[in-house]
Amino acid sequence: MAQHPDAQPPASHFIDGAYVEDPAGDPIDVIYPATGKSIARLRAATPATVDRAVASAKAAQAAWARASGAERGRVLRRAAEIIRARNRDLSVLETLDTGKPLSETLVADAASGADALEYFGGIAAAITGAHIPVAGGDFVYTIREALGVCAGIGAWNYPTQIACWKAAPALACGNAMVFKPSETTPLCALKIAEILVEAGAPPGLFNVIQGAGATGAALVTHPGIAKVSLTGSVPTGQKVAAAAAGGIRHVTMELGGKSPLIVFEDADLDTAVSGAILGNFYSSGQVCSNGTRVFVQAPVLAPFLARLTARLQRAVIGDPMDEATNFGPLVSAAQLARVEGYVAAGLAEGARLIHGGKRLDRPGYYLEPTVFADVTDRMTIAQEEIFGPVMAVLSFATEDEALARANATDFGLAGGVFTRDLARAHRVAAALEAGTCWINAYNLTPVEAPFGGVKRSGIGRENSAEAIAHYSQVKSVYVALGPLEAPF
Ligand code: NDP
Repeated sequence: MAQHPDAQPPASHFIDGAYVEDPAGDPIDVIYPATGKSIARLRAATPATVDRAVASAKAAQAAWARASGAERGRVLRRAAEIIRARNRDLSVLETLDTGKPLSETLVADAASGADALEYFGGIAAAITGAHIPVAGGDFVYTIREALGVCAGIGAWNYPTQIACWKAAPALACGNAMVFKPSETTPLCALKIAEILVEAGAPPGLFNVIQGAGATGAALVTHPGIAKVSLTGSVPTGQKVAAAAAGGIRHVTMELGGKSPLIVFEDADLDTAVSGAILGNFYSSGQVCSNGTRVFVQAPVLAPFLARLTARLQRAVIGDPMDEATNFGPLVSAAQLARVEGYVAAGLAEGARLIHGGKRLDRPGYYLEPTVFADVTDRMTIAQEEIFGPVMAVLSFATEDEALARANATDFGLAGGVFTRDLARAHRVAAALEAGTCWINAYNLTPVEAPFGGVKRSGIGRENSAEAIAHYSQVKSVYVALGPLEAPF
């Protein structure tokens, strides 16, 4: 096994402020997607390690919840500073973990994680209750309490960002967290755990354990866990929410999508093409909120496709560590095979392949950016989440038709509209059944804005002050000032 010098962590898990090995755990080979070669070997957590991680988080949480919001916030903001100072190293690790080009990871991943820690560090001291006057001069006050130990479970597309988006609000509210990354991308969350300790977080406050679905399932049903936040697919979300329901645990579910991106004939076409590229090919299409059903109004369909295919010629596909590269491999051989299956389904069902569609003749899991035109609503590639670089272009005649077709899905994560008509833009955004909408933009997710899905795409919101409600609970305290009357 060729070990990459930057990739192998000292041990598989990070518990109670230190790296910990679990020699009895199943081996996990970490594969660099650009070469297909193993760059590190870790081991999954056995149930004893899951117990140890939860116990250590529980021990750390009580004192952390008693600390002032200002103290908690300071630690999170310090962690944000350390992440920013080490952006390049963390970005290289993100690229090794995921295969995403360094040109992306340098600006998108650790940076977004730092934004979350800074934002929630900034508002930690402002998490307060309310004073509610009631009859007779009595009053109620509310206390916003931590939940306890939260479980975070991540997908493989944004391992640094997902760890931070979950840890930051959880810790700001006074919780501890045990985080399980995807076994496909286990490296980055360990660095976040290290950095939090360096920033002053008590050992145990943020623990990382490795493993596949079985480890995740053991964590979700552990009696010490008060809340589960999952980023993953809808089928996994259904399993995890059902398992969490056994203990009436709080859940946040950030799940998949098949989001519509609607281009009206009056849109600035170059902007719309940019939106479609960002919403389909960034991170080689492995983004949950991608606008993979691109509805284009019939009169501008031909020029839209012409400009799109011309722009795709400019994609620089290659070594992700070369900063000139802007399109990298898929995360794994399994994901590549899955996406190739969808390309085959598109062809078999009569969609017209107008760009890409082939694997690259080089090591690693590369598939060309792929565009299908003449896609109809019933085709598999218009219905199922592909999670790869495959755009389906559909045409439409009227706004009402576009909206009805856009909403005819069980998913509801995101949606985009491109138009110069102000009233239409807001009308369409209001009518889209989606948790996040963009007008003349796509896939921008600043920490200040709530992010999450409706319908089967999820429950709860990440980022923004909204996330505080999902990592805390409210206690109501009634205060009587006068004598208390009773019937007898
Ligand atoms: P999966 O649903 O396969 O896995 C998500 C995580 O859950 C992984 O860590 C996985 O472990 C774990 N897991 C699997 N089974 C169980 C179980 N029974 N109990 C507990 N945990 C379990 O998703 P992917 O990793 O394949 O990621 C792609 C999916 O994530 C896409 O559907 C995408 O849309 C979605 N996603 C949603 C986002 C959002 O914010 N809405 C953002 C990013 C991605 P392991 O993988 O190690 O087996």
